[in-house]
Amino acid sequence: MRWGDMRRSENVEDRGGMGGGFGGGMPLGGGMKIGGGTLILILILSLVFGINPLTFLGMGGPEVSAPPTQAEPAPSPSTSSPGTRAPAPTDQRKDFAARIVGDTEDVWGALFKSMGRGAYRPTTLTLYRGAVRSGCGTASSAAGPFYCPADQHVYLDTAFFDELSRRFGAPGDFAQAYVIAHEIGHHVQNQLGVMERFEREGQRLDERRRNALSIRLELQADCYAGVWGNFAQKRNLLETGDLEEGMRAAAAVGDDTIMKRTQGYVVPDAMNHGTAEQRTRWFRAGLQSGDPRTCDTFAPTNP
Ligand SMILES: [Zn+2]
Repeated sequence: MRWGDMRRSENVEDRGGMGGGFGGGMPLGGGMKIGGGTLILILILSLVFGINPLTFLGMGGPEVSAPPTQAEPAPSPSTSSPGTRAPAPTDQRKDFAARIVGDTEDVWGALFKSMGRGAYRPTTLTLYRGAVRSGCGTASSAAGPFYCPADQHVYLDTAFFDELSRRFGAPGDFAQAYVIAHEIGHHVQNQLGVMERFEREGQRLDERRRNALSIRLELQADCYAGVWGNFAQKRNLLETGDLEEGMRAAAAVGDDTIMKRTQGYVVPDAMNHGTAEQRTRWFRAGLQSGDPRTCDTFAPTNP
């Protein structure tokens, strides 16, 4: 990807580690390793803080990740962008994320206008390490990147990109861009009123039906990520191999892929993000059309 040519968004904040954010002064600084025990404690605290599972909209369920490995210095994402100097690794990741967000702002800004939807109001990308307090409760990076509709922020621990590369087998800058564009897709859904309908209807449903509805929401976010990718492609910002990287990432975060890897078998009723086949299919649909109207994953005949 030629992400160095994209406009850097102003709407990025870096919260670093949580420090003594858990009241009791639990050390969770960005430079510290979090052991498995601490991770469990974080998850328990998350429950205590009252997270409504519906309010966390991430790449995959909290079950997707083992204890985070955020303490290691992050390796640089591969890039062949011309004309960009090489800053420190973490700065480069911040720069990468800010430019992807900036580009989604430009694309969705134009799309909202052409759809007669008024102005696109950008989300804020909050970068953190280890754990973060959001409007949807406290989350650890083990939950993966997520969008919180309540405060309209996307939360990302860029250590997830290492996970994506190493544990999910999906390296590459376009794979990472897909992850960000998917979360931005949730923000688009929020502004289009899709999210509100989902939350309202979801509360009335049993878990199985709610999961089925969640899959439609997630696949639409994948399709929206593809719509952004279409515009990146049109402006020659993609390079050979990028599309494959994106497809590999969409397949890697498929519920069936994750379930097979983590528990060895697939439980269809427990899926809430979609299978690898569904996720790649909808991501591709958006990539090919560049038109959000083709992303109607809620149609009765879909997904
Ligand atoms: Zn999602």
